[in-house]
Amino acid sequence: MKLSFVIPAYNEEMTIEPLVEGIIKHSVPHDIQIILIDDGSTDLTFQSMQKVQAKHPQVKIIKFRRNFGKSRALSIGFHESDGDIVIMMDADLQDDPKEIPHMIEKIRAGYDVVCGWKKRRFDPWHKTFPSRVYNAIIRKIFHVNLHDVNTGFKAFRKEVIQNIPLYGEMHRLIAILASEMGFKVTEIPVEHHPRKYGKSKYGFSRFFFGAVDVYTVWFLSRHSQSPSYFFTKRGLMAIILGILCLLGSLLGFYLDSEQLRYVFLGTVGSVFIGIGFLTIGTGLIAEILRREFAIKQDPSLIEFTAPIKNENGTNTKSKN
Ligand code: UDP
Ligand code: MG
Repeated sequence: MKLSFVIPAYNEEMTIEPLVEGIIKHSVPHDIQIILIDDGSTDLTFQSMQKVQAKHPQVKIIKFRRNFGKSRALSIGFHESDGDIVIMMDADLQDDPKEIPHMIEKIRAGYDVVCGWKKRRFDPWHKTFPSRVYNAIIRKIFHVNLHDVNTGFKAFRKEVIQNIPLYGEMHRLIAILASEMGFKVTEIPVEHHPRKYGKSKYGFSRFFFGAVDVYTVWFLSRHSQSPSYFFTKRGLMAIILGILCLLGSLLGFYLDSEQLRYVFLGTVGSVFIGIGFLTIGTGLIAEILRREFAIKQDPSLIEFTAPIKNENGTNTKSKN
């Protein structure tokens, strides 16, 4: 069985070599491939990668022209990988390569995704506390039993990464995207180490953008099949509210001489009706897009088909 390691690195010159050695040591007896992605580092990360590649032919290097972010780096790395199991790890040695065999064991037991849960985490409180809240919210919304969704240490059966589109900062939610697509997701506690070299690249802002991604994934997984249902329901609610306001204002004009507030009520009603129609229109545009992508997306949902088709597109089983 072949393992592919995908490791994004941004200014991690000190840890590349020990990390690669650790991975090689703990991956015996498997055939391995280590894809290092230099995400536009301004230190000697690239030179460290070249040095380690000269020693170990399993290493492949991809260098970005500038810093494009961890998600882009992972996405390119996944695309280049050809292992049966793909393992993503941070380059800073906070993840311990000794956990690799435990992750593989879980995949062998039948799981599609294994997350490394940093149960005892060595990061400052302003990272760990919001992370706990974030994970609790995610468990509630998506009904998954995961404590460390954003962990940089995960193993996947190759079908998972072949079927999940990563963009923006979606790498944080791969496990959720996979679970929503019906893949089996689990976690194991892993040993975590404090960062010895270099600096963390992320601050508090990640939790704000993380919240936006959670909302997006929630919307896509619940409503992307029929977006019109979602938008039409809310649009109609706005229109009904608008009509009630208008009726209220007409009744007010009729019964009462004090007219200014009814003009206000009428205006509010008209605005609601306008918003309602715009919302329904948005839903229709989403439906058009959905239809365009329908053919491309749906094969990714299939786990198994029989009889299996061969390269010529004909069935392997003869019809006569
Ligand atoms: N990283 C990257 N590009 C970026 C930011 C980070 O490739 O723009 C890499 C970084 O080098 C590390 C991993 O992503 O290997 C996780 O980053 P970091 O350790 O800073 O995150 P933390 O552990 O503090 O959450
Ligand atoms: Mg780190």
